[in-house]
Amino acid sequence: MTDQPNLTINGRTYAWPKQPVVVVCIDGSQPAYIEEAIAGGHMPFTESMLGRGADLRGDCVVPSFTNPNNLSIVTGVPPKVHGISGNFFLDPDSGEEVMMNDPKFLRAGTIFKAFHDAGAKIAIVTAKDKLRRLLGHGLDFTSGRAVCFSSEKANESTVAEHGIDNAQAMVGRDIPDVYSAELSEFIFDAGVKLMETMRPDIMYLSTTDYIQHKHAPGTPVANQFYAMMDSYWARLDAQGATLGMTADHGMNAKFNDAGEPDVIYLQNVLDDMLGDGAARVILPITDPYVVHHGALGSFATAYLPDGMDAGDVAGKLEAMDGVEAAYTNAAGCERFELPNDRMGDIIVVTTTHKVVGTSPDRHDLTQLKEPLRSHGGACDQRVPILISRPVSGVADDRRLRNFDVFDLTLNHTA
Ligand SMILES: [Zn+2]
Repeated sequence: MTDQPNLTINGRTYAWPKQPVVVVCIDGSQPAYIEEAIAGGHMPFTESMLGRGADLRGDCVVPSFTNPNNLSIVTGVPPKVHGISGNFFLDPDSGEEVMMNDPKFLRAGTIFKAFHDAGAKIAIVTAKDKLRRLLGHGLDFTSGRAVCFSSEKANESTVAEHGIDNAQAMVGRDIPDVYSAELSEFIFDAGVKLMETMRPDIMYLSTTDYIQHKHAPGTPVANQFYAMMDSYWARLDAQGATLGMTADHGMNAKFNDAGEPDVIYLQNVLDDMLGDGAARVILPITDPYVVHHGALGSFATAYLPDGMDAGDVAGKLEAMDGVEAAYTNAAGCERFELPNDRMGDIIVVTTTHKVVGTSPDRHDLTQLKEPLRSHGGACDQRVPILISRPVSGVADDRRLRNFDVFDLTLNHTA
């Protein structure tokens, strides 16, 4: 298989894998999680792996949310190119606020599809079904060379839609609760079993950040979660795979001294500034998993009435305590490489420990049992990039991104 030519995908060139490549997206893995777990002796494999491989840091895409970053990792390009700018957006065609889970919103092909079309075997396992259709888009599941399912719905998989009938039976575990560490463990167990049986050329394992939303780096539950991952990574390494780990985004504490979420309610702010309901605030973090974050993150966009001077509004917002920066559509989309037509007239990011909401009555915080930990802003952008083999040929001054992980594992390892 090493005779295969290089492939050019979305303007970047990738070498054919010399051995199976496994890329892991650890959802919400602020670098300190691994640093603390290694320091505490909970990740013996990873510690030794980093002794021989590469222990790098990079920046994720802003908004630092799950869907935009997973899609950047698997396409190798920012949201300006692939089009997925949030978990949720205002569809300009319908005027409706909708989830961005449908492949019809995707504007670029994935690295998986290009390799699959060239004959490679591909396996993708993700936690929540919300990502599955985007990640697996374009694969021919009847080819016998493509598998893509979620641990949430592994018992519902079929050859026609997922490349495998009843993936749960293959893994041999109960379907875990959607709010559990086991939802992620299921993925790694599936990965090890797929490596034994199918031995894919490229595997992608993408977890859920339930644990990171609830537990800070270095705490017992977080360390236990990272120890679990470490044990499966050791097995994948022993199976001869090259491993590349990164995160879709970081994670930070977002609460005040009283332990309450530290929120700027932007709809209320704009109602006071411009009149009730004149502006429309969209929170691209919004998803059905309110237990994680109550739809509170460090990024928002807003649509303003026609004729309004967006620069003037952005300037007033930027003067507020807790607002790190506020941009017009043009400036924000240039700064964060976002698609202009999927963002509002202004873009707001907060400082590290603040979040932005719409108005208090529109956030269900009753399910938030622990002090809020969340993400979304430029402040949550730092992520680990760990490679199991030595990396060479990367310029010292290159700003690494999480969506360089396939470039690093395929093109820069011996
Ligand atoms: Zn995430």
